[in-house]
Amino acid sequence: MESARTGDVVVAGSRRITGEQLLQRASALARALADQGIEPGKTVAYLHGNSAESVIARLAVQSLGACYVGLRPFFSTGEKLKFLLEGQPELFVFDPDQRDEAASLCSRAGISHALSIGDCDFGENVLDLAEEKPDAPLECSDRDGDISMVTFSSGSTGEPKGIAHTFASASGFLDNARHMYGPGPWRFLVAIPLSDLGGEIVQWTLAGGGTAVLVDDFHAGEVAAILGRERITHFFGSPSMVHALVHDPGLQDAELPDLRLVAYGGAPSSPSRIADAVAALGPVLMHNYGMQEAGFISFLDRTDHVRTERYLLNSVGRPLPGVEIAIRNAEGRELPAGSIGEVCLRSPTIMAGYWRRPDLTSQVLRAGWFHTGDLGRTDDEGYLYLVDRVKDIIIVDAYNVYPQQVEQVLTAHPGVAQAVVVGLPDPDTGESVYAAVVPSVPVPAGRTAEFTAELTAAVRETLGSVHQPTRVDLLSSMPLTPRGKPDKAAIRGQAAGAAGALRS
Ligand code: AMP
Repeated sequence: MESARTGDVVVAGSRRITGEQLLQRASALARALADQGIEPGKTVAYLHGNSAESVIARLAVQSLGACYVGLRPFFSTGEKLKFLLEGQPELFVFDPDQRDEAASLCSRAGISHALSIGDCDFGENVLDLAEEKPDAPLECSDRDGDISMVTFSSGSTGEPKGIAHTFASASGFLDNARHMYGPGPWRFLVAIPLSDLGGEIVQWTLAGGGTAVLVDDFHAGEVAAILGRERITHFFGSPSMVHALVHDPGLQDAELPDLRLVAYGGAPSSPSRIADAVAALGPVLMHNYGMQEAGFISFLDRTDHVRTERYLLNSVGRPLPGVEIAIRNAEGRELPAGSIGEVCLRSPTIMAGYWRRPDLTSQVLRAGWFHTGDLGRTDDEGYLYLVDRVKDIIIVDAYNVYPQQVEQVLTAHPGVAQAVVVGLPDPDTGESVYAAVVPSVPVPAGRTAEFTAELTAAVRETLGSVHQPTRVDLLSSMPLTPRGKPDKAAIRGQAAGAAGALRS
């Protein structure tokens, strides 16, 4: 933070916290946590939602030079238990509204001492302990090489893993955010979990003297209303959030003169939908490509979104300063521009490693290069295009099918809200293409076959018959991972178990 200020810096529902209050509360809380033995090198696991207290508590932990481990409520209790047993944090804290799960975790993990951030009938209320502490600003004791935070991967390609970053990479994140999102102060609407990227965004916003407006769960109507009411300048969402927002009736007549940036990323997006979003919101769209292990990698700027070459909307943009990208084949040889291979990179913001799992770290971090598991290519101007995840390629009769290309054709159909394509085992062709589709409006039972036939025909005409799904199922909602990404494992499982009544 640049200085204690009298304006609101955190807004959560009806709660508004000024810069001065934030600094005072974080400083007093840090002193109370220091009394519990928290210091550089120690780890605090914290179970919380998008609460104002979590902003204060995370600042308190990190200002002591200790490591914050964000336990996102949406992970299963079993997964959180595994993180706690593997990670052995020195302290466990929780928001009072997470009380029941906190109690269950403590009993199963054998944690005898837990602190609640507020009044609760379980654990000790650490805010009471902080009341007695001086609230003068603390001198931060972080050291560049120490671990500052652990977040968790989505588990879309296997079990979720803890990802550890140092204080040095956290300051690299801030440099990148400033480079992409422009100078502060921002009024940033944060509707993604504070236990990972959302929490980072809050800290970058505070560091620039801005205001973070917190929303616990994304609902397009609510977010559309807050954009105008809170004079929001910046918003970050997944492509599906941006799509829902653009189509929300609340946004149609909204005047949003303050909105400067709507960043999207984290999952593949549909170029036709992004073009719609630019038409609706103006030249404020920015595409971010990154992963928790590597931080931000590249971005497609606002000006790129309004260039006449519309194919650029297929791109995840150009690398951030300091990020070096190499496209490599399976043998590790670097490929020229235009060739498809694995995206590998060197960057100041690459993780220190998977949390207490050096065995997993050495699989992805080799000779200073991080192997993303994403397939991509670059063009002559240095724009990067992602083709798919290496593990998601479907091989049909020895032909490579990239599910993302099929998904793009499907989502360009006006009747499709969401589409996810995976490979299923096939006795004749090795694998076959399967599409799970959530229609934008319910399809009457009598029209299902006609609708799915329209979709498969669109794929055949655009990409050729190898890409054509041999089966399309219509779902009422897409199975998601705890981080809100399509859960491909669950989709495959459902497909294998389904009766196939909706086969195209
Ligand atoms: P996570 O670390 O859970 O955010 O997942 C990172 C993965 O999400 C990346 O390796 C990509 O496969 C995918 N991803 C992230 N950003 C984008 C993007 N802008 N476009 C397509 N895929 C993305």
